[in-house]
Amino acid sequence: MAVMENLIGRENARPAPSAGKAAEMPSLIGADREELAAMLRDRGVPERQIKMRVSQLWNWLYVRGVSDFDAMANVSKDMREMLKANFTIARPEIVEEQVSNDGTRKWLLRYPPRGAGRPVEVETVYIPEEGRGTLCISSQVGCTLTCSFCHTGTQRLVRNLTAEEILSQLLLARDRLGDFPDRDVPQGAMIPSSDRKVTNIVMMGMGEPLYNFEEVKKALLIATDGDGLSLSKRRVTLSTSGVVPEIYRTGEEIGCMLAISLHAVRDELRDMLVPINKKYPLKELMEACRAYPGLSNARRITFEYVMLKDVNDSLEDAKGLIQLLKGVPAKINLIPFNPWPGTNYQCSDWAQIEKFADFINQAGYASPIRTPRGRDILAACGQLKSESERMRKSERLAFEAMMIANHGEDD
Ligand code: SF4
Repeated sequence: MAVMENLIGRENARPAPSAGKAAEMPSLIGADREELAAMLRDRGVPERQIKMRVSQLWNWLYVRGVSDFDAMANVSKDMREMLKANFTIARPEIVEEQVSNDGTRKWLLRYPPRGAGRPVEVETVYIPEEGRGTLCISSQVGCTLTCSFCHTGTQRLVRNLTAEEILSQLLLARDRLGDFPDRDVPQGAMIPSSDRKVTNIVMMGMGEPLYNFEEVKKALLIATDGDGLSLSKRRVTLSTSGVVPEIYRTGEEIGCMLAISLHAVRDELRDMLVPINKKYPLKELMEACRAYPGLSNARRITFEYVMLKDVNDSLEDAKGLIQLLKGVPAKINLIPFNPWPGTNYQCSDWAQIEKFADFINQAGYASPIRTPRGRDILAACGQLKSESERMRKSERLAFEAMMIANHGEDD
């Protein structure tokens, strides 16, 4: 039986420090250097100090990860008081934090309404693996797309997340994992990046990141800034269902790794599974992939392929996949389908998934079968948020028991 530890339950939800007041003030998190400079200028900071103040703030926010202006020891008291009176750097409220028996962690975070009429909640998932740790970040609350196998797609779009809200998922995860070791070392001292707990991020949580391009871009450029959070662009992956025009922009303006939610190799089937395909069919999608800058065997596009029984899991489909990807440095992630209440799909049989994977391997493509992670806390792919929001506790426990019973044997 799975052991699920609920570190912070809904009953013990933690409001961020001075969350009410902070929610009304502009946040410094997510602002780029020019915006920070403009915010300080507007508050009367003399021009000759601006550059130095921006660089101090950048260091406190993104190298040391502080969320309290009073911790900024080398900033004068007057300046700290001014910052406190006008801005916030508070983290989002943690509604719930769960740790799976496989070490996966899931946070349910609450943000102020910002035009949505009520506070919104999103989930962020941390997946520790041998030698690395991946944080799966959400870009929207709900989703406008309706991929038929995805539970998030059944939830209407509430709103886009801001750059601050996207970035604060990373900051909060680092807080909770003790992953800001620089907090306690002298300024300027180096911390080996191999000691980091969050080594990779994937924009693969709730929402279609390329429908929120500007905010996602801002957040990822800050996450990969060498003087701050310093994640390598090779360790940041943006996953899209195929918003073709923004794939070109992602390559040029962000330069991170790309993943495509592919799931079908024929237009008729993909129109059904990933309806955005009607607007940007496979031919256009693959052209955009071929043109993605910097591709090589060491920098491959990941193609996500969910295994749906008797829908897309035949050897004909595997053949079609190899043809489709010809000439693209590619890696294929096979994802056993994670069922959710009300879905008509079933996960392919394990033997069929292995046959499919072998076929692709023999054609020379890496095609790992993604081991489902965090199923006991509903943190697996396509299960985010809707469950924890909509199910009552008793329903959730029953569903979790069903998931464990259904899948226990293939772990
Ligand atoms: S797979 Fe992604 S794009 Fe499609 S409905 Fe789900 S969250 Fe939206």
